[in-house]
Amino acid sequence: MDTPAFLDRDRPDVPDIVVPGGVTPFHLAGRPVRGRLVRPGKLADAILTRHKHAPAISALGGKALALVAGLASALKFQGSFSLQIKGDGPVSLLLADCTDTGGLRFYARQDQEQLDALLASGKQITDRDLTGNGYLALTVDQGPEMDRHQGIVEITGDSLADMAMHYFQTSEQHACWTMLAAKQTEAGWRSGALILERIAGGGGSDADADHSEVLDEQGEDAWNTALALAGTLTDAELLDDTLPAEQLLYRLFHEEDLVVGQSRALAYGCRCSKAKLSDVLSRFSDDDLDHMVEDGVIKMTCEFCNHDFCFDRKEVGTTASAN
Ligand SMILES: [Zn+2]
Repeated sequence: MDTPAFLDRDRPDVPDIVVPGGVTPFHLAGRPVRGRLVRPGKLADAILTRHKHAPAISALGGKALALVAGLASALKFQGSFSLQIKGDGPVSLLLADCTDTGGLRFYARQDQEQLDALLASGKQITDRDLTGNGYLALTVDQGPEMDRHQGIVEITGDSLADMAMHYFQTSEQHACWTMLAAKQTEAGWRSGALILERIAGGGGSDADADHSEVLDEQGEDAWNTALALAGTLTDAELLDDTLPAEQLLYRLFHEEDLVVGQSRALAYGCRCSKAKLSDVLSRFSDDDLDHMVEDGVIKMTCEFCNHDFCFDRKEVGTTASAN
């Protein structure tokens, strides 16, 4: 078993933040609609400010974090659920993942030259301007013993929400709608997501053909009504920490027999530690390790936390294990 973060003395000094009501699941009783409201609160700021990104990239990262948190909370798995976007734009790689216990991480690799050119153009920057063309993948990773489940689609649309909806149109059996927002507020970076899913229901197997057609139609109406109501949500409402999740959902769906489920926590989720990176280094040959030494130490940086770990050459490799 992994050492709990708070007991691990090898862990860097990174924010130890838990947001108790980070994800709020809900459904509309008697209707084929369920959803999740995701609000990572100050956690978004803690994760995004580990790196000095341009605001447009932080905003994309905030939306990606809210999206993975919302999608992960609807799945039964043990391990991590990740969103990966690889494209030819200024953000050549974006990675956001969420563990089964709500631990969130984010990393973006940027091409500085392309980014400078985009920023200099003065145009309103879309998520697509940052990713360019490429692909988006969603992966459930339950460890080396289990099969990885991965779905990949081409990047389509201008916003991350459009890209995600395109994924669901092509990869999943049911309709899915999502709204994402992220912004730097007076309290720091905030992000949020509202996700609606059309689930099976409305037609019983014992119903005759005519009857199930009527129920299908009712299901379609209920889904469209839910979409119309969800569409009235503003970015400001979604990102407002002072507006409780239940109140926000009630504002949207109070006439649709809203049932709010038990909320789930989100947390600062980087799993890096000196012990883990030392384990990584132990797989290199002594020759390679010698080449990695600079000013007497080997420096390894956690790309998620942007934290540097320094190793004395004598601490790692066969030289270390021989002692
Ligand atoms: Zn880390």
